[in-house]
Amino acid sequence: MRLLFLFLLLASVIFYSVPVQSTNEITPDLLLSYVDTQLKIGYRIPGTAESHEFMRFVANFTEKTDSWQIQFHNFTYDGVELANILITKTSYGSVKIGENNSYFPKILIGAHFDSRAKATKDPLFNDRPVPGANDGGSGVAIILGLMKALDQFNLDIGFVLFDAEDQGYDRDAGIPGWSWIIGSTRFAEALSVSQVNKLENFILLDMVGDKDLQLKRERNSDAELTNEIWNIASEMGYGQFMNTSGYSLIDDHIPFINRGITSVDIIDFDFPYHHTVNDDLSSISGESLFAVYDVVLSWVLSINNLSSSLTDNVSLSSTFSVSSVKRNASLEIFYSLIFVPVFFKKIKRLSKS
Ligand SMILES: [Zn+2]
Repeated sequence: MRLLFLFLLLASVIFYSVPVQSTNEITPDLLLSYVDTQLKIGYRIPGTAESHEFMRFVANFTEKTDSWQIQFHNFTYDGVELANILITKTSYGSVKIGENNSYFPKILIGAHFDSRAKATKDPLFNDRPVPGANDGGSGVAIILGLMKALDQFNLDIGFVLFDAEDQGYDRDAGIPGWSWIIGSTRFAEALSVSQVNKLENFILLDMVGDKDLQLKRERNSDAELTNEIWNIASEMGYGQFMNTSGYSLIDDHIPFINRGITSVDIIDFDFPYHHTVNDDLSSISGESLFAVYDVVLSWVLSINNLSSSLTDNVSLSSTFSVSSVKRNASLEIFYSLIFVPVFFKKIKRLSKS
């Protein structure tokens, strides 16, 4: 009898300690705070201590979830050690990038996490770095929000955060001699044929926090998938998704398009503080971040035949799955930064240089 009581007590403790996450927890202020956290880490310039600190932050964030795991795709560019960050569901097993028949998610949502080393369009301070609240920070913040909102669902989906997107030449070089979209190019080129075949859609989030958010349809994006997302936005009443054509942009979706993957770039390129020191927290709004978060979440749920009302009233028994094999990601990045050769034995290195 005493044993039964103990068992029931233990069972109830386990049951009630399971965090029930609801999309109601994701607010405009929370998304804005995710940008603020990145700015407080510092300039996420490729190869710097702040860039590594950002990676540790994402590793810790992932560790606190129930269902997500993190992996680092390490590579070298111009003699600098860089890394893309891949986040997938623990329940599907780890991704071996470049290996045929290794798991790869069906849907990938991406953003770049680096911030530009030089504010090359700033009329006064063009030698200073860009804070990157909108350019980098906004897409990352939405992905963190989506990780939290989708933690309770066992979905065939992943997130990727790219290093070294934003260091190319406009009026001057971000980093001398560097090109644009370095991380995403290395990542997409490294995928095996079976992984490319598995990946159905790539959605890129870039500069989505502008206070006056105007998301025109990016011209290199897949028209049909763009329609799908913009129609959801229209149904939800988010006028930020506009029915006009925007620019043709070289952005992190291009390497995926080059591999034949149906891709969309959600971007507002008419950002008045683009590549200036004023790309800070005061230039973006939580409402803009939330609009994009909400539309992308609804799209993800709709293609998985789930309605967004489900996320507010989720049944624990049907969606909660125990993840016993989640790796200690924060420890792994720590070792990867110090004992690089050891780390490379664990995750296949795909450097071409
Ligand atoms: Zn940029």
